[in-house]
Amino acid sequence: MPALPASSREWHLVARPHGWPRPEDFALREVPVTEPGEGRILVRNLHFSVDPYMRGRMNDVKSYIPPFQLDRPMDGGAVGEVIASGAEGFAVGDHVLHGLGWREYADVDARQATKVDASLAPLTAYLGVLGMTGLTAYAGLFEVASFKEGDAVFVSGAAGAVGSQVGQMARLKGASRVIGSAGSDEKVKLLVEEYGFDAAFNYKNGPVKEQLAEAAPDGIDVYFDNVGGDHLEAAIASFNVHGRATICGMIAGYNDTEPTPGPRNMAMLIGKRLRLQGILVRDHADLQPRFVREVAGWLNSGELKYNETVVEGVENGVEAFLGVLRGDNTGKMIVSLTR
Ligand code: NAP
Repeated sequence: MPALPASSREWHLVARPHGWPRPEDFALREVPVTEPGEGRILVRNLHFSVDPYMRGRMNDVKSYIPPFQLDRPMDGGAVGEVIASGAEGFAVGDHVLHGLGWREYADVDARQATKVDASLAPLTAYLGVLGMTGLTAYAGLFEVASFKEGDAVFVSGAAGAVGSQVGQMARLKGASRVIGSAGSDEKVKLLVEEYGFDAAFNYKNGPVKEQLAEAAPDGIDVYFDNVGGDHLEAAIASFNVHGRATICGMIAGYNDTEPTPGPRNMAMLIGKRLRLQGILVRDHADLQPRFVREVAGWLNSGELKYNETVVEGVENGVEAFLGVLRGDNTGKMIVSLTR
């Protein structure tokens, strides 16, 4: 077995951000690399994921996922190559998906690792379109929003990892109209020209309520919410009777220091008999086989497209994460450690 590297760099949270995280809230620290123990594998991370939900984990609050600990490595989705194995069934050279991102080398409990096939899809796809974000889109649209053929669908954060898949999946399953919002004119162009949305608008160009009403003159039946705030209020205003919203994320408020006011038009839920339902992707593992089968088919036929924004180097991990909050990414934001 080749000699192991002496050390690995990993990102620690060193202060809890108040509002927008600052670079000094994080530290890149060097730690020794050791042989994996019984039942464990040592993985050289090739790509890791930086996701909006990680902002919530930087706060010391009780939530559906424990907060990051101060002066401990942060974690999250990663794919890499096994470079030493103390676990039956895992060999050097295997590619695995696991939860110890934000570092160069990961000492992983093999029970928490899933082998992935680099010949079937690029490894980064297992973090995005065929991974957690893809399943979020699939489960959120088909299960939680009970999408049906002929629905008019509005998705916010539509050029992001989840949103771009939601819009295309709705189109592929026979939506009558797919509308997206995003934060730049380039992203809006991409939605219409590359992903086949029927209409899209830049939420920074004017009130969301007015732009949505114009883009959806016959109203909407499904809203996939990645943003919250004025987007949710606008969706409620545009909903047809029996509309359904999947509340997936509310990124517009993740750095707020005061509780965000709710939509002012909640009374419309009554007359329109609306349903607003949250989603946690981890509740939908049962959909995984169907999701992979269907999405792999669409990817192979070229009917479903995806983009990634790749930032190179572990040292740029925090900057990549801040970039997701700012909207620097088109599609899934990935940190690659392949150079
Ligand atoms: P993403 O959409 O790829 O990246 C986040 C995007 O949010 C940015 O690119 C930016 O795009 C947009 N954004 C940032 N600030 C905004 C604001 N104030 N108003 C409107 N848009 C803003 O991230 P993702 O991984 O696909 O996640 C999308 C949403 O789903 C997030 O809210 C996330 O928390 C949620 N999520 C939930 C689950 C679950 O199980 N519930 C799972 C995965 C993700 P623009 O340039 O368009 O502003």
